[in-house]
Parts: sequence; C-alpha cells; structure tokens
Amino acid sequence: MVRTAKAAVYEAPNTPFIMKDYPVRPAKAGEVLVRVTMSTICRSDIHSYEGRRPNPCPGILGHEIIGVIEEIGAGIDKDMRGDPLKVGDRITWSEYFFHGDCYYREIHDMPQKCNGVRKYGHDLAEEDPHFLGGFAELCYILPGTWILKLPDELSDEEATPLNCGVATMASVTEAAEIALGDAVVVQGLGLLGLYGCAMAKARGARLVIGLDAVPDRLEVAKKFGADHTFNIKDMSNKDVVAKIRGLCKPDGADAVIEVCGVPDVIPQGLQMLRVGGRYVLGGLVNPDANVMIDANMLVKRWVTMRGIHNYHPRHLIQALDFVMANRKRFPFKEIVDSKFALKDLDLAFKKASDRSVLRAAIVP
Ligand SMILES: [Zn+2]
Repeated sequence: MVRTAKAAVYEAPNTPFIMKDYPVRPAKAGEVLVRVTMSTICRSDIHSYEGRRPNPCPGILGHEIIGVIEEIGAGIDKDMRGDPLKVGDRITWSEYFFHGDCYYREIHDMPQKCNGVRKYGHDLAEEDPHFLGGFAELCYILPGTWILKLPDELSDEEATPLNCGVATMASVTEAAEIALGDAVVVQGLGLLGLYGCAMAKARGARLVIGLDAVPDRLEVAKKFGADHTFNIKDMSNKDVVAKIRGLCKPDGADAVIEVCGVPDVIPQGLQMLRVGGRYVLGGLVNPDANVMIDANMLVKRWVTMRGIHNYHPRHLIQALDFVMANRKRFPFKEIVDSKFALKDLDLAFKKASDRSVLRAAIVP
C-alpha cells in the first residue's frame, strides 16, 4: 500500500482549507524528508491567504517550519555549519532554495535573490513531492536548501520563527548597521519588530524606541528591549517626530527600521533620522507600496535608504545563535502564544489575521 500523509490545502484565497492526503515517496539524493513538529503563521501567509500576494493554488502554505528528520537522501550528511545530520535530528532550514547556476549567488553573494529562487509554502500541492509547505504532516527539503540542526534545549516555540522572522531581522539590523551606542527606532511591533528591538539592544544600541498602533504590543515590546514605546494612533505626525527627536539627542535617531508594512510611515521615519542616518525597509512585501518623499532631504541630510528581502544563509545561523545567547534576557518563548491542530487551520488563520494572537503555531 502506498503511504500517505495529510496536508491542509489552500484551494483559493479566502476559502476554508481542505484536508487532503498525498502519497509519500522515499527521499531522493540531496533531499531530506521531515516530520513537521511545528509551523507558525507568518504575516505573508495571511497576505497570500487573503489574495493580496500571488501564490499558486492548490498549495500548502507555511514557511516558518521545524521538524524531525525521517529520512536523508544520498549525499547529505552535514548541516550548513558542518554538524553531522542523522535521522531523528530536529532541524530548521532556509525558507528558500535554489539549485543550479546563479549570477547573484556567484557574483554578488546574494543567493536569496537568485533568479528562479523558490520558497517553501509557495508551490503547487498536486505535483511531486506534494509536501513543500509547513501546514502538513511532512515536508520535503529539496536540494539548494540550507539546513541547520537545532540544539535540544531550544523549545519548538523559540525555534520555529528562526527561519523567517528572526533571520530576516538579522538581515535588516545588519543592513541598518546598528552599532554600540546607537539610538534606534522600530516602526511596527509585530513579530519582526519584537526581534528587531531585541537585536538592536544585543547589537549595542543605547536607546530603542518602538512604534505601533496596537496598545498591547507596546507593553510586550518593553520585554524585548524597547526603552520607550508610543501609540502612533493617538499622535499627529509632527508630535511623533518631535517626541523621537527629543529622545534621540542631539539630532535624531541613528537608524530607523520599518517592519510594519505600511508605506505611509516612511516620510515620518525619515524625519526622525540624524544627518548620516540609515533607514531600512523590511516590511513592505506587497506590490504598489507607493509613497511621496522629499528626496532633497535625503541628499542634504546624507540619509541612506535600503530595502531588504529574504536573507543570506549566514543570517539563519546568526538567528539561531542570537536566540541561544539571549533567551534568558528576552522571553522569545512568549512570542508563539497559541497552538492549533492542523485541522483547525482556519481558526488559527482567523486569529492571526485579526491580531488576537501574536504568533499562531500549528502542531500537526
Ligand atoms: Zn515569513
């Protein structure tokens, strides 16, 4: 009899997930077959589900995944750090994969932007090997993926966001060049913003200020390193900028990070910076994020503006090492604050979408 396993399939935007069985085949050379132990709902899964981001249907969403190795194909015996891999090991892996020749990888050291790069949670479920997303019992890891073994002491809740949220913030905070003594502003205190606050502190910032429009998040951010938080909903643009500039003596913030996905915050963020300040965009993953800015201000004030999408494989290692080194200082465990069975994926998406939970986890 052919072995099968279950997946919650995304048939079309805004329709209920359908539980389906697909055949399971042995791992081929260069592949690893993993039993999913936890996957979390990322904001971009919600964008896909709500039809605001193109994603093939029917598919299996979910790219923040961890799992235990069931089978290792020929040719794989070590993780990206060189640690031996065996059946039964718990692992995380890069949210993207690419196999073949690539100009961006070879010439610019940007494998994350290879032409034709594929991401877990973004493939057709009807095609072999079927299981390429987090909201299923199994996942195949395909050639061209970076695999990283997880230490036993790390909980599933701490480990699951590593390969998207945490690694992305390692990339964003590196691009923002956060250094000892910096004053840093984080626009948006969802999962990315919380790790952003904590990483800014760990990189040596003297002052971290968090901005959001959801009151609960302002309090949570204080546990993750934010010295001050402001609810921008109750403040005018002028007041927000004045408050930040008043706190970041003498002439504004060294770095501002956008992780809220709202283009309108960009002009405000730019006005908070000192001469020579850095503005890094990490949250605007949807097309048509248009905004009007006074580019003369960028020129006169020597402002650097950068966009970040995906991350370099080194950021996955940095994400794990950052969480291991700081898990007693910041309560990363609390970020994944709710758990659902695979069959309750609709409810989990509803709660993640209306922000009544911070990060919803699926335990298949
Ligand atoms: Zn994600």
